[in-house]
Amino acid sequence: MSGRRPDARCPLRPEEPCTLCQLDVTGPQDCPLVYLVMTDDELRAGTHRSRLDFANRGPAVGPAEPPANGHAQRVER
Ligand code: SF4
Repeated sequence: MSGRRPDARCPLRPEEPCTLCQLDVTGPQDCPLVYLVMTDDELRAGTHRSRLDFANRGPAVGPAEPPANGHAQRVER
C-alpha cells in the first residue's frame, strides 16, 4: 500500500479529476458548483445520466497524434 490518496474525481465531469477550477476549494467536498448541482433535482439527474453515459461508453479516445496537416480536429462526443 502506497499511502498516497487517490485523486478526487469531479462529480460533474466523471471522466476527469478535480482540477480545483473553483475559487478557494480543496476538492469536490467543498466545491460550491458541486453543491449547487447536487441540490437541484434536474441538474443532479442530468449529472447522473452523464455518469451512466460515461460508464457505458468508456473514456473518450482521441487521436494519438495530430493530423498530418497540423490542423486541430474537432472531436464529436
Ligand atoms: S473544483 Fe468543483 S467543479 Fe471544479 S473540478 Fe473540482 S469538483 Fe469539479
